[in-house]
Amino acid sequence: MKKVIIIGNGPAGISAALYTIRAGIKTIVIGHGLGSLGKADKIENFYGFEFPIAGSKLVETGIAQAKRLGAEIINEEVVGISAIDNHSESTQLKSAFSVRTDKNQYLSDAVILATGASRTAPPIKGLKELEGQGVSYCAVCDAFFYRNKDVAVLGSGEYALNEVKELLPIVNSVTLLTNGSEPTVSFPKEIKIEKHAISSLNPGASNPLLGGIGSLESVTLNYENKIKLDGIFVAYGTAGSSALAKKIGAFTEGNKIIVNSEMSTNVPGLYAAGDCIGGLLQISKAVSDGAIAGTSVVKYLR
Ligand SMILES: Cc1cc2nc3c(=O)[nH]c(=O)nc-3n(C[C@H](O)[C@H](O)[C@H](O)COP(=O)(O)OP(=O)(O)OC[C@H]3O[C@@H](n4cnc5c(N)ncnc54)[C@H](O)[C@@H]3O)c2cc1C
Repeated sequence: MKKVIIIGNGPAGISAALYTIRAGIKTIVIGHGLGSLGKADKIENFYGFEFPIAGSKLVETGIAQAKRLGAEIINEEVVGISAIDNHSESTQLKSAFSVRTDKNQYLSDAVILATGASRTAPPIKGLKELEGQGVSYCAVCDAFFYRNKDVAVLGSGEYALNEVKELLPIVNSVTLLTNGSEPTVSFPKEIKIEKHAISSLNPGASNPLLGGIGSLESVTLNYENKIKLDGIFVAYGTAGSSALAKKIGAFTEGNKIIVNSEMSTNVPGLYAAGDCIGGLLQISKAVSDGAIAGTSVVKYLR
């Protein structure tokens, strides 16, 4: 039986699941919390409700609906995704996927990313400017460029731990920068943990031939303590949609995942729907995107 993993249990992910499960495809929805709707007290512009409904109630009802139809709903945090060699000799599909969570690993023939709008990176001076110049959002993509170098991971939870584990075998040292928070999971002993607030990321001298600013050289903590670093991997909060998409080579623009009219990314078998592809950030559009992604996956897997 062909299998799809849907990452995100909000309106886009659940709407996609309703179509895949009813088409006879094994459907696993992995979600972590209530997403944007968990913050919405009152929804009164979504079709079919005479009176306002709490966002959390809408999400819970959607999840119950998908469950009743046979979708498997898993409450875990996805920290990584990668393409693997085809695991079934009989399959004609071009890709197969491995999705890693804080607790398990799951395999599937297709994946729909429906993780909502990407979280913005923390407003730290120099972070935006140094993107691609020492600031990375994907350890699995960029660790190789930092062989035997000193890097840091910015974050404090499961996602940061995943990035630390990707980096440790490759780089010289990893420092965890929690930017004022307490770590929420235990990290390997060999890394250094700095809990001070970050004041700025500092570039080195620019290349006279290239101009612009130089690459990341150091980070300043508490306005005084400077640590020399070659790279920083941002892994704040949970893995956002565009970070997950980038890990597997899907094209993104800013925080948005680029899809065609079938919600397909440039990676065969990888689809995206809802707030993570941008446009109107509303439930009705997320539900519509999910329906299109779900039906496209059905076509792809058949
Ligand atoms: C305060 C507020 C009020 C709003 N009010 C309205 C309104 O009145 N009307 C309206 O139409 N829209 C409203 N919206 C917008 C609406 O909530 C979104 O457009 C809609 O929820 C998008 O659906 P989605 O499925 O794309 O993403 P989301 O609803 O954000 O769902 C994404 C899901 O992915 C999960 N997830 C994310 N990362 C991971 C990970 N790494 N591993 C596992 N799971 C993950 C999250 O837990 C979440 O369940 C509001 C938004 C906010 C914040």
